[in-house]
Parts: sequence; structure tokens; C-alpha cells
Amino acid sequence: MSHASLLSGLRGIGKHRVATVMAMALTCQTTTPCGTCASCRKIEKRQHPDVFFLAPDGDWVKIEQIRTLTAQLQLHSLEGKAKVVIMDDVDRMTESAANALLKTLEEPPPSTYFFLVTPHPHRLVATIRSRCQGITFSPLAEKEIGTYLTKHAEKDRDTALRLASISQGSLGTACTLDLDVLDETLTQFAALFQKSSNADVLEVAHEWSHTEEGVHLIVESLAGLYRDALLQQTQGSKAAPLHPRHALPKLSSETLDAAFVALHRTQALLATTANKQLLFEDLLFTLLPSSSS
Ligand SMILES: [Zn+2]
Repeated sequence: MSHASLLSGLRGIGKHRVATVMAMALTCQTTTPCGTCASCRKIEKRQHPDVFFLAPDGDWVKIEQIRTLTAQLQLHSLEGKAKVVIMDDVDRMTESAANALLKTLEEPPPSTYFFLVTPHPHRLVATIRSRCQGITFSPLAEKEIGTYLTKHAEKDRDTALRLASISQGSLGTACTLDLDVLDETLTQFAALFQKSSNADVLEVAHEWSHTEEGVHLIVESLAGLYRDALLQQTQGSKAAPLHPRHALPKLSSETLDAAFVALHRTQALLATTANKQLLFEDLLFTLLPSSSS
């Protein structure tokens, strides 16, 4: 096994889970990742002294975090087998942190395994990517997600099918998505699309920017609306819309292009420290036909 692996794929698709099971396999007291021995249980509780979990502190993984980690990796492993590092959202690293990590990956301490996890591998510097063995996670089929939701998450069939199509292959998203919140967002947007004043736009942007975990979901759902509009134009009645109850009116190709550019830009900037209210204001003023005060 390579000493560094880069696990990439959609958010909520199981990358972190697989990394955790790999950590169990490398340190398990039996020969397999049993999930029940003391070592496996400690990993599950994030209490294993040789297994390190790292994630952005605030917006970024910072150099101090990498320094602390490297110092810990220099010590002998406490339980004797291997040391494992699982890093989430590894694309969100400051430049100095990335350089420090690169050094460690170039000269890794013995019996140490790194699992770098990210939905955006292309945002990682090439020098780090080239040190890792890439493992790509493909989206799950809608049918599989739907079946899981009806069997294990107590969803009725219609809800399960809608969640499965919106989540686009990510079981984690399907399980955590709140359809009421989603519908509320789309209804708000539809109302603005019909008629909006500048004051309305500012108010909605303010509300959306304060939804904490939900900001990405809001942009994703808007992107879904525009994806529907594009499919409607290219495939007509054969298109299967994600949000049939909130369809947009017919839009020109230029309008669609501008919308996708704006949505993509917003999604990228939401991962940074940019002011979320301003981002949503910009986005809405780009997407809405015209606003009058
Ligand atoms: Zn075990």
C-alpha cells in the first residue's frame, strides 16, 4: 500500500469512511478491520493515539496544525503497528501548510500512512497530488440511493426518489438534505424571479448568508434549477427535471451561460472567507431578470 493516498469524489460519498476503515485495517489487533477490537473501537471514537484526524481550523488547514502533526509523527507509535493520518478537505490548506505537508510526504516517517480526502482534488497543488496514489469515488446510482433511503432511513417512496435525484449520487447528501428547507429556498427564488425590489434582494441575501451549513445547498439547488432549464431547452419533454415544481421560464443561451458562470463562482468563493451576504447579493443581481427599487 502506498504511504499516501488521495481520496476524491463528491461530498458525502464515503471517502472519510473508507479512510477510517483503512486506518482500522492498518492497526487492527486481529488480521482484518474487525471493528470490535480495542484498537478499532478507539479509532471509531477518534481516541487512538496513533491515528490523527486533521481538518481545516476555521477556513483553512494552517501551518501550525501541520507542525504539530509532524512533531507527533516523529515519536514512536504508541500501540506499535502503524501511524495513520486522515486529513479532510485537504484542498483548503494555506500555502505554507501545503509546503510543510509536502516535505513530510517527501520523507515520510516509517510505517506512517496518509489519507488525504477532498471533493476538489484539482485544487490541491500538483506536487502533493503527484506524491499520492489517487483513489476516485464514483457517484452512486439514483436507484441504490432511493432503495437505501426507503429501507434504512424511513423515507416514503416519493421523498426517497426526489432526494435520490437531487443528491446526484451522494448518499451523505441524500441523508442530510432537508426537502422543506430546499423547497422554501426555491419558492423564495421563484418569487424574486417574478418580481423583486433591491430591498427584497438584500433581505433574501441576508437570510441566506446566515444559514451556516446551508449556503452550499442553496447554490446547489439554484444550479439545479438552471440545469433543469438547460435540459428543458435541449431535450424538451424528455428531460427529467430535479425541481419540477419550481421550473424557470424559458431563458436565452446567454442568460443561462451567465447564470452558470455566476453560480460556479459563488460556489467556489463560499469556501473562502469572502463575505457571504455580498456573494449572495452579487449572485441574485446576476440571476434575476431586473430589479427595481
Ligand atoms: Zn480490529
